[in-house]
Amino acid sequence: MVQDVQLRVLPRVAASDAGIRELVLHELGTDAHDVRNLRVIRRSIDARQRQVMVNLTVRVWLGEEPAAEYPQVDYPDVTGRPQVIVVGAGPGGLFAALRLIELGLRPIVIERGKDVHERKLDLARISREHVVDEDSNYSFGEGGAGAYSDGKLYTRSKKRGSVEKILNVFCQHGASTNILVDAHPHIGTDRLPRVIENIRNTILRCGGEVHFQTKMTDLLIEGDKVVGVEAKDSSLSTLNSSFLTFKGPVILATGHSARDVYRLLASREIEIEAKGIAVGVRLEHPAQLIDQIQYHSREGRGRWLPAAEYAYVQQCGGRGVYSFCMCPGGFVVPAATGPEQVVVNGMSPSNRGGRWSNSGMVVEVRPEDLLNADLGLMTDEYHSVTNHQSPITIHQSSIINHQSSIINHQSSVINHQSSVINHQSSVINHQSSIINHQSSIINHQSSIINHQSSIFNHQLSMLLFQEHLERLAWQQGGRRQTAPAQRMADFVNGRLSADLPPSSYAPGLVASPLHFWMPKFISERLQEGFRAFGRKSHGFLTNEATVIGVETRTSSPVRILRDSETLRHIRLQGLYPCGEGAGYAGGIVSAAIDGERCAEAVASYLSVTG
Ligand SMILES: Cc1cc2nc3c(=O)[nH]c(=O)nc-3n(C[C@H](O)[C@H](O)[C@H](O)COP(=O)(O)OP(=O)(O)OC[C@H]3O[C@@H](n4cnc5c(N)ncnc54)[C@H](O)[C@@H]3O)c2cc1C
Repeated sequence: MVQDVQLRVLPRVAASDAGIRELVLHELGTDAHDVRNLRVIRRSIDARQRQVMVNLTVRVWLGEEPAAEYPQVDYPDVTGRPQVIVVGAGPGGLFAALRLIELGLRPIVIERGKDVHERKLDLARISREHVVDEDSNYSFGEGGAGAYSDGKLYTRSKKRGSVEKILNVFCQHGASTNILVDAHPHIGTDRLPRVIENIRNTILRCGGEVHFQTKMTDLLIEGDKVVGVEAKDSSLSTLNSSFLTFKGPVILATGHSARDVYRLLASREIEIEAKGIAVGVRLEHPAQLIDQIQYHSREGRGRWLPAAEYAYVQQCGGRGVYSFCMCPGGFVVPAATGPEQVVVNGMSPSNRGGRWSNSGMVVEVRPEDLLNADLGLMTDEYHSVTNHQSPITIHQSSIINHQSSIINHQSSVINHQSSVINHQSSVINHQSSIINHQSSIINHQSSIINHQSSIFNHQLSMLLFQEHLERLAWQQGGRRQTAPAQRMADFVNGRLSADLPPSSYAPGLVASPLHFWMPKFISERLQEGFRAFGRKSHGFLTNEATVIGVETRTSSPVRILRDSETLRHIRLQGLYPCGEGAGYAGGIVSAAIDGERCAEAVASYLSVTG
């Protein structure tokens, strides 16, 4: 018989196997001999009251052998099977590849960055030498954006079965089975690379391919069908670099930072649209202070509790202000993907034992918010896409030219009519050409109307806004990877910080008035949000905390349009926009779930098309 027992215990008891066993036996009123095994299957911390408690669900096997901890997936050999191109080796791409193998298809994974170990050297160079490799950084490389992260694996996805499957596959590839138990599971940046390497080995062992330093440069399109990709092998020197082609349906899982991919899609007139994002800052507190606040104790977390988490949300001026990607006991990291950008993000090791705790503090921004915003230093490119003044003016003057040419035409027709009365048939032809002319003007005018309606919803407007903020942060941070920063209470009160507290951010901080140079519709909402969070948690709003700019890569600024049933691009057959970059996921687990779904969609497409 299998029985689940609910316990609510002190943290000290929750940390002791013997203590849990004793309580379970007491609860069941049974003899120790009857219990073949017991296992904690769910664990959550309840810190709402002064005395912090731990809730446990313990599964007990009475008189029978315990089941396996989790089901394992059987990955068959797919050598010689139809191939599918997976662009991007983030969680979306890797889980798509694994699922393709399960379904008997051969994944060819191409990844612009390096393998997860080589990549680490490039990350170190960002902090040490302030050099950002455009293909190997915190977003690009094997494992994608999540490889060097906190590895938080909780998601708002309600698809329980799908979430469990992803966690099981992580365990099968070396993650601790604690992730199956904890209410807020995380793997940790020290353990994720090994798990990712194991996933790659499964793909290779089953006959799939993984190509690093291979950047997709174009889609191969025949009519309305994507039949493969063109890619550049950047492992060779620029002189020797060569272009390769990979043929097959394409799962495009290139993440939210592949701006060149968005620009490629826009230039090839592949349907995409601007999407709302959230932008703001990283907020860093001493971990001890967060522990004291969250666990209501001067002692902080003590011996038995993990570094404390928090989550805040507040409506400010009709937009959400909220904490995002909280990293207890973690580091703030430089997450730029190109030159002239400063972008911050966060990660933590598995033990979350660092001296600081940080989170993104972000404000929801919608495409229409850029309409009335005073954006000061916006780039010319931004203005050209958001205002569209020049194309419209050109359009309008071309219509005026058009109309006057018609008037000339008409008067020449009248002259014609009088002088060539015997040539009526040619006049009729002439008149019908005028009618054609006039209908082309009507088409022209309606295209202008379409143009105008898309002005403030331009496909790349949010991406350009992100770029603008990141460049501002780079300028304010000293034109290196040093980040602009301000003490939290100073930020809220609009004061320059004379100095800054110590920080985990390795490239270094520069004191800067973020309240002044960030767009007001963001900084003022953040100030209001911080005041509200300070009222909710005494001690949270403090000058011991540091606001670090800027957090812009919270989600994709673009959505690649796909059919909600077939997951195929709305026009192009053979193209499956996938994961966070396509606008259909936000986080490691949801990207992995989307990867699996895209693999299933390609499998049914291939069975239809043969
Ligand atoms: C520092 C940091 C910490 C994070 N922490 C967490 C966390 O704790 N928990 C969580 O759930 N989420 C976290 N995230 C977010 C999470 O990493 C992403 O949501 C997730 O990785 C998205 O998966 P994806 O596969 O869709 O895209 P990505 O992970 O972005 O992967 C895309 C891949 O495509 C590759 N690529 C891009 N362009 C090309 C091209 N042209 N050719 C070939 N390859 C290309 C990239 O190199 C990259 O490897 C974090 C992100 C960062 C940056």
